[in-house]
Amino acid sequence: MKNSAEIWNVVDEKRKPYIELSDRIWGMPELNFHEVRSAAEHAAQLEREGFRVETGVGGLPTAVMGEAGEGGPVIAILGEYDALPELSQEAGVAEHRPLPGQGAGHGCGHNLLGAGAMLAAAAVKDWLAARGMKGRVRYYGCPAEEGGAGKAFMVKEGAFKDVDIAISWHPAAFASVTEPVSLANTTIDFEFTGRSSHAAAAPHLGRSALDAIELMNVGVNYMREHMPSDARIHYAYLDAGGIAPNVVQGKAKVRYVVRAPEVAEVHALLARVGRIAEGAALMTETSVTSKVVSAMSNLLANLPLEDAMQRNFDRLGPPPFDAEDMAFARQMQATVTRQDVETAFRRAGLPVTDVPLCTTIAPKSAPGPKMMGSTDVGDVSWAVPTVQARGATYTIGTPGHSWQLTAHGKSPLAHKGMVHVAKAMAGVAVDVLSDSALLEQAKADFRERLERSPYTPLLPDDAKPAFDMC
Ligand SMILES: [Zn+2]
Repeated sequence: MKNSAEIWNVVDEKRKPYIELSDRIWGMPELNFHEVRSAAEHAAQLEREGFRVETGVGGLPTAVMGEAGEGGPVIAILGEYDALPELSQEAGVAEHRPLPGQGAGHGCGHNLLGAGAMLAAAAVKDWLAARGMKGRVRYYGCPAEEGGAGKAFMVKEGAFKDVDIAISWHPAAFASVTEPVSLANTTIDFEFTGRSSHAAAAPHLGRSALDAIELMNVGVNYMREHMPSDARIHYAYLDAGGIAPNVVQGKAKVRYVVRAPEVAEVHALLARVGRIAEGAALMTETSVTSKVVSAMSNLLANLPLEDAMQRNFDRLGPPPFDAEDMAFARQMQATVTRQDVETAFRRAGLPVTDVPLCTTIAPKSAPGPKMMGSTDVGDVSWAVPTVQARGATYTIGTPGHSWQLTAHGKSPLAHKGMVHVAKAMAGVAVDVLSDSALLEQAKADFRERLERSPYTPLLPDDAKPAFDMC
């Protein structure tokens, strides 16, 4: 109890440069693996704090790491700073107003995610130093969460191999422990090669790669009826073979994302999708090659750490939103549907109310529909005991990856939610550092889960980060 009050004070005292860091990152939205300026800003702040800084972590040029302290357990706090395409938006206004000349925007709140995680790490650093205690805290700035699976590559390169526990968070409508439910996924490109020809003069000489993709998609769409109902498959054309209808398309490329609750199910579905691609190639007399672009595992639970996080949240209470925050949130809520709002309450396991911001900590293991997305924190959770929080940084009902989410990014309410969740994360870190029994319980829970189901990474051994993706 004493520990938590002290560490929360340290977080409060240190918050200003981190709110500024978050706002600067909001203003320089950069996509998957192109987060050059954002990573440099994070490295510079780590230097100012006196962390020992490493760049290019895990072979990723835009990954950074700062470490402080000596000996003892290693606590990793993970942040992100990548943005999303097409989500540029003016800050603090409740209408869709993209910024001129800027396509990308922080529509997932990763500007807050990185700065809030580093704030927690910096507070733990000062707390350790003030006590002269053994223990190390690290901030990991992890690139390309939005499709590049940055952390999965960092795990593959051993970036977390001497870490004892990992803590992270994500912006959300409600403050809560993140339930360890996410979908494992693989992003894979299929490239078909046929033979180009004049579509009118010599159609019989052409073999269409575009036909092959269309037949493949039909095959996969028929497969949907015969796959687990909680699996997901999506596709997008990367190259439809050109824009001339009178040329038989000699090359074409499609990107598939295959998701399922367990890694083994993704492996099985990928094999089926691959056979359908081969069938399409057979039907069209084309050939097909495939390449995994990125892959993420599902999240592995860790009960002792989740309970520690819940205790911190329960003691903290909800973020200190004021009347102005509520007024802004009411304006933002008017831009979404009633259904968006009700779904958000249901997902958090809370009764629907008219209050537009989080005023209570959402219960752990709430009944109701679970998250059906994916996160590359999944792979970290199979490498070290991991726990995540949700920080209340936006209006209840705000859709993920939306202009509304970008619009919240520099608001006072987002700053409050970020500082609040930094306290919960720093609280868990000091609980683990000052209670060796908790650390042992977290490790035992992790070992038991891995014994029951060993880690089989979805990334092939020869997979390389897709630095050219955006
Ligand atoms: Zn995100």
